[in-house]
Amino acid sequence: MFSLCSKLEKENVNSLVESTRDLCVSKGILMRKRDGQSPTKTYMCVPCSLLPSPIPKDGFQLLTFLQPHINKLIHDVSQDDEFMSSAFKNVIKVDDFTKRLYDIYKASKAYDKQRLDFGILRCDYMFECVVDKSGKEFFNPKQIEINTIASGGIKLGSGLSSVHSDVLQYAKMKELTAHLPKNESLSRIAHGFFTAWKDYGNPNAIILIIYNENKPNIFDQRAVEYAIYDLDEHITVRRKTCWELIASIALSPDGKLFVDDEEVAIVYFRFGFTADDYTDEKFWDVRLKVEMSRAILCPSIGYQLAGCKKMQEVLAKPDALERFIDDVDVVQKIRNTFAGFYELEMNSDGDNAVRMALTNPDLYVLKPQREGGGNNIYGEDIVTLLSEIGNDERRCAYILMEKICPKPLDNIFVTASGHQKVQAISELGIFGVILARGNDVIENYSADHLMRSKSHEHNDGGIGSGLAVMDSPFLV
Ligand code: ADP
Ligand code: MG
Ligand code: MG
Repeated sequence: MFSLCSKLEKENVNSLVESTRDLCVSKGILMRKRDGQSPTKTYMCVPCSLLPSPIPKDGFQLLTFLQPHINKLIHDVSQDDEFMSSAFKNVIKVDDFTKRLYDIYKASKAYDKQRLDFGILRCDYMFECVVDKSGKEFFNPKQIEINTIASGGIKLGSGLSSVHSDVLQYAKMKELTAHLPKNESLSRIAHGFFTAWKDYGNPNAIILIIYNENKPNIFDQRAVEYAIYDLDEHITVRRKTCWELIASIALSPDGKLFVDDEEVAIVYFRFGFTADDYTDEKFWDVRLKVEMSRAILCPSIGYQLAGCKKMQEVLAKPDALERFIDDVDVVQKIRNTFAGFYELEMNSDGDNAVRMALTNPDLYVLKPQREGGGNNIYGEDIVTLLSEIGNDERRCAYILMEKICPKPLDNIFVTASGHQKVQAISELGIFGVILARGNDVIENYSADHLMRSKSHEHNDGGIGSGLAVMDSPFLV
């Protein structure tokens, strides 16, 4: 694996950086600027890499092939009451956020058989680098997590592929643009909305986006909205915060969901994935009402739970995948992408896992059931936390995961105000769309990709948390 930086002429870097910013602005790769915690009404280009980052083509193709199987896996897990209750039984004793989600999941079960489930997933991977005795390097994709709610980067990923194609051309490397895979995630995901909306069967029913006004990535959501309008100008998309919904949402006796007297066909959550979102108790009432309705939920609370970190650990156990997937080859391929998981339940396996983590904390990541970046625990902080918890059930709120070590490659990160040379580690996300009603699958496909990179000095990464930049894959 090589960095494209080696092909850059040094004297061109400044002008390419400038072009990259301008390209981002002209292609709408933008986010809101922040003023402290609050986003302002001024905009800046999203931080991005100057050059795309190399990843193995066969790995990329494999992950694209696997995505529909992962979509179906998440769907089937979400329908399997017994599996879900066994997975979460100890987490919900100690993690109030997961318990509240789980309680709503149980309460909403009555609707699951009739309602269409709509998932927009993003399965994230890093390529672990293994060197054999002869010094040959192998790059194996390892799953970091499966996002099943508010999977972001839908527009930014596809837009940045186009920016990188132009940058390579400006850098006199046009022939290399053939290594950039096409990225149509925005239109492929919009197609999912269109199909779901038609399935609902009322041409006057709206698509409701529930959003968090404190997030700067408004354009990623707006782009989905505009792409839906492109498919059918008669669809109405409304954006509401949870505050606005407290007063305006209503459920009819036959389970129809209304907002300001308009019937809702689809509820698209860009909110509610993390405990911090529920700043008011009434937000939970809104969530329950939505979940008890006949509206198509993107996602249902069952999908959200199936995407929890705990489920990664549970699905990595022997025979867990076989419960849902008949094809042994697919099972093996998915299992090969799993890192090591070590359960922290109150048993001897849990005790062993704690001992391993305390002895070699740098080999692991401790993950709580949270989303959105910045929640994981690394290194000496693992020792501090596990020592403080001691032999207590509170450890069941976390999973212990093997730390993946990709090979860092040179790149240049471009922000609105500067640029810096970094040793970058990349994370590839593959989008997936599924529409299914019980065992009846209506749509199930891979919906292209998103790549993010971070400096190898940072453990966590996320565009939102400011540690990662947008990138795009360069297939080799
Ligand atoms: P979140 O839902 O908050 O995004 P992730 O599981 O994706 O949670 O973790 C956040 C970040 O932490 C990832 O983007 C990645 O950079 C890093 N990370 C997570 N798990 C691992 C791992 N097993 N090995 C190395 N880095 C990891
Ligand atoms: Mg996540
Ligand atoms: Mg993540």
